[in-house]
Amino acid sequence: RVKLQGRNHYQFYQPEINVQASESLILENSLHYALEREELRIFYQPQVNITTGEITKMEALLRWQHPKLGLIPPEQFIPIAEETGLIVPIGEWTLRTACAQNKTWQNALNLETLTVAVNLSARQFQQPNLLKLVSQILLDIKLNPNCLELEITESIAMDNVSLTQEILSELCKMGVSISIDDFGTGYCSLSYLKNFPIHCLKIDRSFVCDLTNENCQAAITTAIVTLAHGLNLTVVAEGVETEEQLNVLRILECELMQGYLFSRPLSVEDATRLLRKSTTFKISNSYLIARH
Ligand code: C2E
Ligand code: MG
Ligand code: MG
Ligand code: MG
Repeated sequence: RVKLQGRNHYQFYQPEINVQASESLILENSLHYALEREELRIFYQPQVNITTGEITKMEALLRWQHPKLGLIPPEQFIPIAEETGLIVPIGEWTLRTACAQNKTWQNALNLETLTVAVNLSARQFQQPNLLKLVSQILLDIKLNPNCLELEITESIAMDNVSLTQEILSELCKMGVSISIDDFGTGYCSLSYLKNFPIHCLKIDRSFVCDLTNENCQAAITTAIVTLAHGLNLTVVAEGVETEEQLNVLRILECELMQGYLFSRPLSVEDATRLLRKSTTFKISNSYLIARH
């Protein structure tokens, strides 16, 4: 990838695939040390009640503060962590740290019901000790199980449905909530969906992204909200960026929203500042009024 610098310079040819392979090898090597070198960071993004504007949950989103490469987003290192198995210790750290952070916020800011949502990877979900781990963490931290939500994708849920059924039932008995992340992008069989003990569907950002009153893309979102409510599930819309999207979601009676319209994922310091200042966003009615 040497740039052509003029007529008399050679351009070295390096196939893109090798560049990618060596980049991921470099990442893989340093990912082994990321945990012990304390390079992982959790950012938190609020999930907001659509009628009251109240922050009811904070989703924990992992980042890697690499000493040379800067802040690396999860999509660039979680697949490597999955492949190498490093996701198991990393996931355990994330779960424990996010639960502890939630407990800190609850205590310091009098937010007894604030919930933290943590993403689980396929490999983590299949760990035989997952249930033990979750209950041990809750016990150690003295966090109310109702204040922990675990997010899994449709493909994780559908991979081995009898195992899923068993794990989710146990988590449910413990009092932990489950949400299905990126809903609508996978292949979750509706008959299984009906039987899984879950609490919440998160509509994928790709459907929320082109929601406008005029646009028939609302058809998919409408269908998902109707389905969720028919199954007694709460709906979270991911990636809400505009007032217009908010307005459609309000008409559809979607319960919670998450997106840049309210807040980007925040560092612990910024998230704490936000919660300290106010736990309620002002939900504007202006667009609604303007259209009537
Ligand atoms: P996700 O769980 O679906 O998280 C939502 C993603 O959408 C986050 O990206 C968030 O920053 C982004 N987002 C939120 N609101 C908006 C918006 O209004 N507009 C746009 N354009 N984007 C928005 P992020 O943090 O890069 O995370 C990407 C994915 O990485 C997550 O998707 C999740 O699947 C995975 N991930 C993150 N943290 C963890 C973790 O601790 N464990 C595991 N297994 N996966 C994680
Ligand atoms: Mg998620
Ligand atoms: Mg998602
Ligand atoms: Mg996603």
